[in-house]
Amino acid sequence: MNILNRLHFYAQNHGQDIAIQSGDSFFTYAQLDDLSSRLASYIEERCRGSKAPVVVYGHKGIYMILCFLASVKSGRPYCPLDISIPDTRVEDTIKTAQPSMVFALEEMTADVKGVISLEETKAIIERTKEPIDESCYVSGEDVFYIIFTSGSTGTPKGVQITTDNLNHYLDWSVGLGTCAADKLGKVFLNQAPFSFDLSVMDLYTCLASRGTLYLLDKEVQLDFKRLIPALKESGAAVWVSTPSFADMCMADKSFCQELMPKMETFLFCGETLTNSTALKLLERFPQAVIMNTYGPTESTVAVTEIQVTKELAETVQPLPVGAAKPGTFFEIHREDGKLADTGESGEIIIVGDTVSAGYFGREDLSRKAFFNCMKNGRSCRAYRTGDKGYLDEQGNLHYQGRIDLQIKLNGYRIEIEDIEKNIARLEEVSHAVVVPNIKEGKVKSLTAFVTGCAKPESGFKFSKEMKERLKAFLPAYMIPKKIVHMENLPMNNNGKVDRKQLGGLA
Ligand code: AMP
Repeated sequence: MNILNRLHFYAQNHGQDIAIQSGDSFFTYAQLDDLSSRLASYIEERCRGSKAPVVVYGHKGIYMILCFLASVKSGRPYCPLDISIPDTRVEDTIKTAQPSMVFALEEMTADVKGVISLEETKAIIERTKEPIDESCYVSGEDVFYIIFTSGSTGTPKGVQITTDNLNHYLDWSVGLGTCAADKLGKVFLNQAPFSFDLSVMDLYTCLASRGTLYLLDKEVQLDFKRLIPALKESGAAVWVSTPSFADMCMADKSFCQELMPKMETFLFCGETLTNSTALKLLERFPQAVIMNTYGPTESTVAVTEIQVTKELAETVQPLPVGAAKPGTFFEIHREDGKLADTGESGEIIIVGDTVSAGYFGREDLSRKAFFNCMKNGRSCRAYRTGDKGYLDEQGNLHYQGRIDLQIKLNGYRIEIEDIEKNIARLEEVSHAVVVPNIKEGKVKSLTAFVTGCAKPESGFKFSKEMKERLKAFLPAYMIPKKIVHMENLPMNNNGKVDRKQLGGLA
């Protein structure tokens, strides 16, 4: 069933159940369905004739989700932007998205005209009594959301996920780890900001399961004194996060089954789940199931699954990322372009019904990354992931890193060149090279080497000042931990910067 129809069904039959909760604020299913339908009719009235996306800027407020739903009910995709994104990037994204409307639910300092504030949004809903007709809803190949990810050109690229993509994904995700019936009415934890597609795993799997989504805002996540009581209070049964976030929580000894007695399912995606994290977690939560899943934003969150049992975590290292979900096929392409055999490494190609419709307004990038191919007698979309891996005899996929300069840092997907191009926006910088510092196969931090600046008296002060200035262009998680002044950068025989000599990816 389409997620929007499902929502309506729950509103009619379980209207008083809480759908989303953030601090003391919440929406029941009846409220979420009714208010989003009313806001949708305002969007349609204001923007008639344009199906351009609706940008929703904010953080973890309940109105954020209401605006998402209103956009798609009005027949327009939404594009979430988190407050952690700096103004220049917000402006760039809005320039690309050419939105029909922008909701700014938190204070927006970026230079964007005609935004609708939270107060105005509330007032609009209050005076708009007529809900939108269901015939306006997005459906089939209509784009449901556009999530912007780091792009190697220095500006983010918008991944378009269609309504069918999302519905196919949800048909599978409601049964991930625990069966769909077991998830009904349960509390799901939301850790990831909505501008990252990991949040789709909790948000829509929760709404499709008539659950309650418990939102953790960034202040709470950064403060153990607030985080631990919030986790306890949440009553969560389904956990969705990067492994890094679970690792961080485990630094607190009280993070265990006694604190969260209802915890049943841990769903991980987005970066390597290490054997030690899985084993520690199984010890802390003996009643819970741990699932490792894998996938890029371009294939709708995740396309594999495997339950990580104690036995698996003790015997197979590194852990596999699992078998393809129904409707997904993998091809492993060798460097010579031929299909790899079982056990042989190559680039992972994802084929199937959750592969994105391409990058918004970027035909050039889409042509490079996506293509069509036949599977089981029908034409399917395929995506070149840039990930390296192989399939084992059991059909499980094993992830072996990247074939390019994309990395994951604390679960965030970052194109190294995106950072480099933004450092080079600083006037005096002539060249910047960013190098990941890797420990136990995981990126722990980043160091940037820059040329063109006058030799500083203090390296520490130089690094600090450069980092401060970079805040204008990059979100905090993309700013290197250290910025080092260089007179010249080392070159290899081809005359290219030798990243290896600097300790980085070749
Ligand atoms: P994103 O689009 O932010 O979800 O990032 C997608 C990338 O994260 C993939 O292409 C992989 O490189 C990496 N990734 C996703 N899931 C996993 C996983 N389970 N294990 C290791 N890397 C992963």
